[in-house]
Amino acid sequence: MSDFATRLLRWFDAHGRKDLPWQRDINPYRVWISEIMLQQTQVQTVIPYYERFMQSFPDLCVLADADIDTVLQHWSGLGYYARARNLHQAAQHVRDEHGGEFPSLFEDVTALPGIGRSTAGAILAIAWGQRHAILDGNVKRVLARHAAVDGWPGKTAVAKQLWELADLHTPGTRVADYTQAIMDLGATVCTRSNPACDACPVAADCAARAADDIAAFPGRKPKKTKPLRATTMVIAVDDAAIFLERRPAAGIWGGLWSLPEVDNVDDWCRETLGQEPGRTAALEVLRHSFSHFDLDIQPVVVRVNAAQSKVADSADATWYRLDDAPPGGMAAPVQQLLHSLQTEQDVPNH
Ligand code: SF4
Repeated sequence: MSDFATRLLRWFDAHGRKDLPWQRDINPYRVWISEIMLQQTQVQTVIPYYERFMQSFPDLCVLADADIDTVLQHWSGLGYYARARNLHQAAQHVRDEHGGEFPSLFEDVTALPGIGRSTAGAILAIAWGQRHAILDGNVKRVLARHAAVDGWPGKTAVAKQLWELADLHTPGTRVADYTQAIMDLGATVCTRSNPACDACPVAADCAARAADDIAAFPGRKPKKTKPLRATTMVIAVDDAAIFLERRPAAGIWGGLWSLPEVDNVDDWCRETLGQEPGRTAALEVLRHSFSHFDLDIQPVVVRVNAAQSKVADSADATWYRLDDAPPGGMAAPVQQLLHSLQTEQDVPNH
């Protein structure tokens, strides 16, 4: 038995939880229900639900024969109702395909709805003492910290490394106690925040603790980097009046007032305003975040003559004076740009 397992079992004998309802009258059915209930829910919340469930569905065939609505009623308040539906379906499968006896082959157990590799391992280890590694959220945290495994466990390579460690530590004897022990350690000592390292049986060789970097493990899910787009907005100014246009109804900032987005400021002046551009000045780029992308806006101020402009005030275009009330709803970064013009007065002179 590995030193890790020996220390963990010694700790379990002294401090592990041994009086939980599913630790009595152990059989695969009772362990299975507890494992599923505990997947997203804390022990203290699960206990009353588990006891009510066991009173109503004392064995697998009673569960299989029950009405799904009755099963869901017993789940009401626990959340993640797919778990209850999967339990019910799996119970019917075991009743119909395995003569009502919970299967003892790992492959048969993982074939049941709602039972993955770790849950199957836990059921078979706890109920029958079969040697299987487990890797639920608590165990991932313990192992990632103990061996300082870098990276997010959702990544295949990281998960593979953690499964290898889980397998390496799992002993050939007392596997039921070991399985319970490592889950308990994660739930009660090596907790997500403020782990009680002083009380931890594997603290002496915990790499994350030695590096004083426990918070870095397990690695977090990487944030998706958003694509970056770029645009130029023209701030055509005549004295204190700025040209604004209403955006088309479809697309970003649909129907809002905005500075025109242009490819080339000089061309825009000639084509849209019918005049040569005056002095221009590029302002600082403004980054605006949308949910799916970031937009870098390059504002360019250009001096123009509104009186000679081809475009007159209309429902979709206006010469807006900074002191006036806005013509209507304005795109947020446009509002920000106009506000900065007002305060910084960085409009170039002729
Ligand atoms: Fe977790 Fe601390 Fe134990 Fe390391 S020493 S496994 S961080 S409780």
